[in-house]
Amino acid sequence: MRPHRFTVACARCESYEREKVQDAVREAVELAGGFPPIPGEVLVKANLLSPCDPARAVTTHPEVLRALCLLLSGTGAEDIEIADNPGYIFRHQEAELLQKTGMLDIQNEKIAKVGLLSRNGFRDVSVTDAVSLNTMRVSQTILTSPCLINVSKLKTHVETEITGAIKNMFGISDTDTRKKAHGMKGQTFLLNAVIDLFSVRVPDLCLLDAVDGMEGNGPSHGTATRIGWIAVSKNALALDVVQGWIMGYKNPFSITLLDIASQRLDGPRSMEEIELKGAEWEDLPAKGFRKASGSIRMFPAFLRGMVHRLVTLYPELDRPTCTRCGICMRVCPVKAITMEGSDFPLIDTRACVRCLCCHEMCPCGAMQVSESLLSRFIR
Ligand code: SF4
Ligand code: SF4
Repeated sequence: MRPHRFTVACARCESYEREKVQDAVREAVELAGGFPPIPGEVLVKANLLSPCDPARAVTTHPEVLRALCLLLSGTGAEDIEIADNPGYIFRHQEAELLQKTGMLDIQNEKIAKVGLLSRNGFRDVSVTDAVSLNTMRVSQTILTSPCLINVSKLKTHVETEITGAIKNMFGISDTDTRKKAHGMKGQTFLLNAVIDLFSVRVPDLCLLDAVDGMEGNGPSHGTATRIGWIAVSKNALALDVVQGWIMGYKNPFSITLLDIASQRLDGPRSMEEIELKGAEWEDLPAKGFRKASGSIRMFPAFLRGMVHRLVTLYPELDRPTCTRCGICMRVCPVKAITMEGSDFPLIDTRACVRCLCCHEMCPCGAMQVSESLLSRFIR
């Protein structure tokens, strides 16, 4: 048996009260073995998916980022930047994004610079052993960063089940790469694309904001719920496995993304290879946590590719909520949505690859997700 090699440190944090968050972040970082060597310049990759109030648990909470940056300053970092690429429809709303997510306050306090990962453009890269994406266009800022800290938010995801440390790195790519990743039929193409992108620049440290998380049909339209943990690890997969455990998975490796990641990335292949510090396993699961809909996870991993189309979720419009903004049409990677000749979006179900980007990016939750009859029957 391989020895314990992957440490995940947890610290209780019952609210976003400033002192409590600072104490929890410091404790978790110390238990995880401290920061990697700090070269002076540090990039913090947050989750800034859309211009949302932090209370909705769509984005990494500013108090967690604030506490992390203050701690980094105390250990020699002189030039700290917090950045992300939001969903592509929000890429021209930088000011609104940074203001609503609480990032501007951090910048105004001179704790860190904040901005978009796209600011220095993108570059074509390829990684050895890529499975889905032979080439990817990745943020120059990420590629040139001497120290990268990945700060994810605990959330569900209607397509990948979990939004954690590995999935958070999906945001380092440009729109075309993300559309390419979403645009192929079959779930494993997207999951391997997520891992391809993660492999481009493996973070030096990962921190999970699980003080509040998102349950239900995340990552944009689920429900915020109190979880009460900050967790830190040098290994993203180990951190995601612990996140899956917090979300109530008895075997987090049954999440297909983590199963594939355990075969492709450096990281644990079983729970026994994770050394948990600061908490006992039985203390971690969030009581009554609601996973994303969908019964695909009831099938063993080797069958999921075959049954995906039959049991996967599909988008369905709730007309009374729809404002007819057309965003869903613009984000669909396979142009399955049209609005010509109709006041409302129309979905070509034969062309739809069920990536649910339209659900994720709909600003008012009008593009909902539904389950097939078969899916409901077997659940
Ligand atoms: S479903 Fe959502 S994104 Fe699409 S047109 Fe309606 S409101 Fe806009
Ligand atoms: S209609 Fe929605 S779920 Fe279907 S391919 Fe387009 S964006 Fe994806």
